[in-house]
Order: sequence, then structure tokens, then C-alpha cells
Amino acid sequence: MGSPTNKTTLYPKSHILAASGIAAALSFFLLVIPSTDVEAHKTFIPLDLSNPEAQQVTALNEKVTSLLGAKVITPLKDGDFDTLAQIARNHNHHGDFIDHLRVTNQEPPPLTSTAGNHAASHSEPADSSDQWTSVTVESGNTLSTLFNQVGIPNSTMYSVLNSSKEAKRFTRLRVGQILEFQLDADGDLLALRSKLSDLETIQISRDNDGFVFNKEQLEPEVRNRYAEGQINSSLFLAAQQADMPHSLTMQMANIFGYDIDFARQIRQGDSFEVLFEEKHLNDKRVGTGNILAARFTNRGREYTAVRYVDRQGQASYYRADGTSMRRAFIRTPVEFARISSRFNPNRRHPILNTIRAHNGVDYAAPTGTPIMATGDGRITHLGRKGGYGNTIVIRHGNQYQTLYAHLNGYARGLSNGSHVTQGQVIGYVGMTGLATGPHLHYEFLVNGRHVDPLRVDLPVADPVPANERERFMAQSKQVMASLDQHRTIQLAMLEQ
Ligand SMILES: [Zn+2]
Repeated sequence: MGSPTNKTTLYPKSHILAASGIAAALSFFLLVIPSTDVEAHKTFIPLDLSNPEAQQVTALNEKVTSLLGAKVITPLKDGDFDTLAQIARNHNHHGDFIDHLRVTNQEPPPLTSTAGNHAASHSEPADSSDQWTSVTVESGNTLSTLFNQVGIPNSTMYSVLNSSKEAKRFTRLRVGQILEFQLDADGDLLALRSKLSDLETIQISRDNDGFVFNKEQLEPEVRNRYAEGQINSSLFLAAQQADMPHSLTMQMANIFGYDIDFARQIRQGDSFEVLFEEKHLNDKRVGTGNILAARFTNRGREYTAVRYVDRQGQASYYRADGTSMRRAFIRTPVEFARISSRFNPNRRHPILNTIRAHNGVDYAAPTGTPIMATGDGRITHLGRKGGYGNTIVIRHGNQYQTLYAHLNGYARGLSNGSHVTQGQVIGYVGMTGLATGPHLHYEFLVNGRHVDPLRVDLPVADPVPANERERFMAQSKQVMASLDQHRTIQLAMLEQ
């Protein structure tokens, strides 16, 4: 192990971010632009320059630009990257698994869906009280330079930052963000505040012997809205014409991602209808909530989706008839990993040097890389298992089992018998047992027989459970009828 300086610990993370970001951006590019009609879109990725990842994002952007000869995407918002990752996952039939791609976990300054209010949000005065001094974050600024700009010493900044864990949120700056300082007559800091979004403002105020943090979180009003569109050139443009926020388009593509190959199968004439939640604050749209129901017609075939929250409070999407929209397994249990050895019944074992079947797939990845359960199930083994080292075996119903070997450690709280869900982190890559380097050895068993995890036909996930079915069908009928009703109204309006 090398010396644990900041640089060495930061590098792999940013590297991973850039690499996976490119993959996701690529898949998004494919998603929105049918092969027959390639257009250039302008890129804008909010930069958080105080953050070392920002440079990686710029690099990512340049890389994507050079690869595709066109720039990508509209403003990326919080959540988009997760969605991108999900799409990349759903569309990649060999399942190179990509996730957790967060550029910055802050939203760019208010909504950008309509031109005009963007500029306004920057010049908006916070409070006319002359004690408050506003500073706008510019490229290259750090919190320290901003404090110095208003004449406050670094020592004060440190006591602000050390006053609470949440106070450190002031270090996550983005260009265009406004910091407001309140100073007393001597120029000492009384308070510091910043509006992070339409809904959230954070503030730090002087207390007797230090600073206290508080935040104002506004509760938006949630309204249902309907949108529909027909695809002429791209899903992206059709959605934009329907005044759908980008994140909603991504959400829709994600929901239908197991059924429709958005990279290759979108055709002119495809159409969609979607009923979704929209967040409003004083009649201003401030965000998007969940898609409640949607219909997507792809090459003449209709697909439906209904969001259902079961009695335990778990939300899932099902087809309108209650069958599942997702697969019971994701293809790959680790992200950012390279396949170092494939399923091979006649392999020569690298350590034992004998012909020994390789009953799984090896994913080389750095020690500590999270490993996810590929499907819902119950842990039937957690512990040492001979040459496998630290191993987890999960049983998924009666037919399927998956095995994860050579782990460096297990996720906290898990034990034999624990129930796990698809995508849940269960352990970390290591090299325990017979292993020449850190990797995950992953096996997939059907009725007790080993199959190639990369080629096995992944079964469709379970439908709405029997004891929830009646309740689901009632909701499904209602929400699908609502879609039909909106469509009729829309048609009537067009005919006038
Ligand atoms: Zn192996």
C-alpha cells in the first residue's frame, strides 16, 4: 500500500467518475438521438470548481465531444446521473454495470427549462438590509477567497466550518451561487446564508460561543400533470416540445428501459403519454416528482407502466396488467470492473495449475469496491468457504442462487439469513482465499447447475403479489383511465 496522501486517495475516485461518466453520457447520447437524425446539442454541465471532480467532468465533456463530434446534453441535475447509470445498465445486454455518477449533488441554479428566468435568478437581491453583502461565486473561487473578499479572516471561516458537520455544506460551491454575509459594525461575521435551490436555503449564525447552522426547507405543492408527445427526430426533442423537464424524460426512459432499447429501437412515429407529479412553489414550477403512469408506443407496440406503492410502502413500476417491468437480476454485481476471466469449463487454474472448470466470471476491481446483490433474495452462506475465501451465497426463490467470492469484507449488518434486495451492497472486493489479485469471483446457478452469468437469460421479476393484486388493479384502472381521459381532451383541443 502506498502512502495515503490526499492525492492518492482522490485519484481513483475521480478517474472512476470520468470513465463511467463517459459511458453514461454515451448511452444517453444514443438514447436521445435516433441513428437517422444526428444533431448537435450544446453542453452545459454545472461546474463545482471547488471540487476536484469538476476537472474530471470537464475532461469527460471534452472526451465525449471528441468521441462523438458533437456536444451532449442539457443541464445535468441531481439524479440524472443515477438515471443515466440505470439506463446504461438496462441497455447493456452484456451488462457492464455503471452507477453512482454524481457530478455535484447540487442542482444548478433554478429551472432552466424556459429561457429568461435563468438570468433573473442570478441578480435576484436577497435582502435589502444594508448589513448583508452578497458575493457571487465565480470560477476558481474557494470559500476562503470569498471570505477574504468581504474582509473576514480565515480563522473565522474555520470556526464556521468546524461548528457542525452541516456547516461544511458551505464549501460545496458552484459557479453562480450567491453567498450572503451579514457583518456587524466592526466587520465581524454575524451570519452567512446561501440559497441552494428554490426550496432550500442554508444559514450559519453567530451564537454566544460559536456558530449555529440552520436551513430553511420549503415544502412544494405537488400537482399531477399530463404530457404527451410524438417522436419525429428524437425522444429528447419530443419531450422538450411537451415541456417535460429533462429529468422526467430520463425517468421515463429508465422505467421502460427493460422493454425498449432506446439506443436502437426508437422510430419516427413512436409516441408517449405520461402522468406525473410536478412540484410547485407559489405557482412556479420548482421540480418534478414521480411518474405515476405512462404509455409508450414503440414501433406499433404499446407498453404501459403504473407506479404502485405497496402496503409496506415500497414503490415499484408494473405494467398495467400487474406483470413486472424489470428483470429479477442485474447482469453484473460490480461497477467499473474489468472482466479478467470468463466462465470456462476447461480452464487451467492460475494457482493450482491444473485443469479446473471456472464456474463463474472474475471481475478485477480495486480492493474495497462495493459488490451488489444481483437479485432479491436471502443469504444462505456468509463466511469462509475454502479457496473461495470470504464468500456470500444468496438464494433467490427456488431456482436461482448467486455466489460472490474472495471478498475483503461484508456489508455491515448482514448475516446468514439476511434478506437482500437487487442492487444492495453486500460486501467489498478483496483477494481472500486462492486469488492472485483483488477480484470478485461471481457464480450464477440455475437449479443447482452453474451457468455463464454473462449469457444466462435473466428471468422477469415477480408480478404484483397475490395479496396486493386487487388493490393494484383498482389503482391501475383508475390511473390508466386518467391517461385516456387526458389524451381525449388533448385530441379534442387539437381538432378545434
Ligand atoms: Zn473466478
